[in-house]
Amino acid sequence: MDNPAYKHALGEAAKRLGLTSNMLNDLFVPDQVIEKEIRLELDNGQVVNLPAWRVQHNSSRGPYKGGIRFHENVTAEEVSTLATLMTLKCAAVNIPFGGAKGGVKVNPKPLSAGELERLSRAYTKAMFGSLGSQYDIPAPDVNTNSQVMAWMMDEYNQLQGYNVPASITGKPIELGGSVGRSIATALGGKYILDYIVEQSGITKFPLMVAIQGSGNVGGGLAKLLTNDQRYRLVAISDSKSAMYSPTGVNWDKLSNHKKQHGSFSGYLEAQSIPNDELAAVECDVLVPAALENAITNENTDEIKAKIILELANHPVTAEAEAKLLEKGVQIIPDIIANAGGVTVSYFEWVQNRQGLAWDLEEVVERLKKTMVSAIAEINELKTRNKISWREATFLKSLSRLVDAMRLRGKLVQARTREYVLR
Ligand code: NAD
Repeated sequence: MDNPAYKHALGEAAKRLGLTSNMLNDLFVPDQVIEKEIRLELDNGQVVNLPAWRVQHNSSRGPYKGGIRFHENVTAEEVSTLATLMTLKCAAVNIPFGGAKGGVKVNPKPLSAGELERLSRAYTKAMFGSLGSQYDIPAPDVNTNSQVMAWMMDEYNQLQGYNVPASITGKPIELGGSVGRSIATALGGKYILDYIVEQSGITKFPLMVAIQGSGNVGGGLAKLLTNDQRYRLVAISDSKSAMYSPTGVNWDKLSNHKKQHGSFSGYLEAQSIPNDELAAVECDVLVPAALENAITNENTDEIKAKIILELANHPVTAEAEAKLLEKGVQIIPDIIANAGGVTVSYFEWVQNRQGLAWDLEEVVERLKKTMVSAIAEINELKTRNKISWREATFLKSLSRLVDAMRLRGKLVQARTREYVLR
């Protein structure tokens, strides 16, 4: 089994910051792991007990922040890893949050709306004492959406006795959600891609782009590329198949076809190829936007792209990355490439706390500024230290975390300034 690339990058960053491996291991230990059994009454009267977690990793840079997922494979270990990566993601884009994650081990697909609502409320009740707008602010993640956030916020408010819209982000706009949240991850990723393309001095356009996954993030990016003549979508996939056309896949037409027929099958304006061949198509930019560990030792040799934009969480393994870097591929890591979502969640929290509702123009302008200044700072560190995008990103974010911990008196031996704040 391949290793996750972030572990290697964090190890390298820790060395540069003068952290011992024991100190780095300590940084992985969450501040708090809350484990509860949730009692859910099903519509048929049967009662099931479901394990549920909230892991609060680190709050040195601000309140804990992170999504809640409902999935049958959720484990305490996975929630802990994701909480750590949230701390580092918030630091990478320099928003004042720490990291957390939550999860319930459940297959939500067969649940009725009523069962899902009772589950959402029961989770909030179980975790109530550990949540709060200035302490730990949940958001949607795998299999949870704005409706789930609405139930959770309502339950939280009932227990609190008054309205606290900033207690949860990713809410429906009618309940204080931010405009722009649904496209934020894709749009943030697009700003990062534009920056990399400009910095790389590329002059031959359009760039051929292949996207693995066509949900909120992959489909969102495909739509954004349609309106930008510098890019041409040549391949895109979902969980069943992939469509390819070197002269361009028309995303509007293909997504309408899927809406009408339930799948890409029968779409005649592009070639249907097996899912696992998407990474190997002739393209300049490859965007994994679906699964973890999508690019491994197994399929690296076939990859032709020169830029990989990680919109999914940890899609490239350490072994695959080592080979790809040798070939000169630029890999833009998840904690910066897909940080647009948590950035607009932060904007939602700010608006709720101020009682304001920004318009789309303001949200988009602030998102662009946040993403571009974050990647520019990472680029400066990358160039100065002659390291990869991933190492530079983790070095930047770990140094911000270490700085905050040192200033609070939680870390005494870090030599951060020598390497990062020159
Ligand atoms: P989604 O559920 O909306 O879409 C997932 C897509 O992946 C679907 O199109 C599905 O068909 C496809 N898929 C599943 N298995 C596949 C396979 N074997 N091959 C190709 N495609 C496959 O999810 P999303 O919100 O778009 O999130 C995608 C990824 O981005 C996830 O890794 C998620 O953790 C990450 N992410 C999402 C956000 C966000 O704001 N939504 C933020 C940060 C990271």
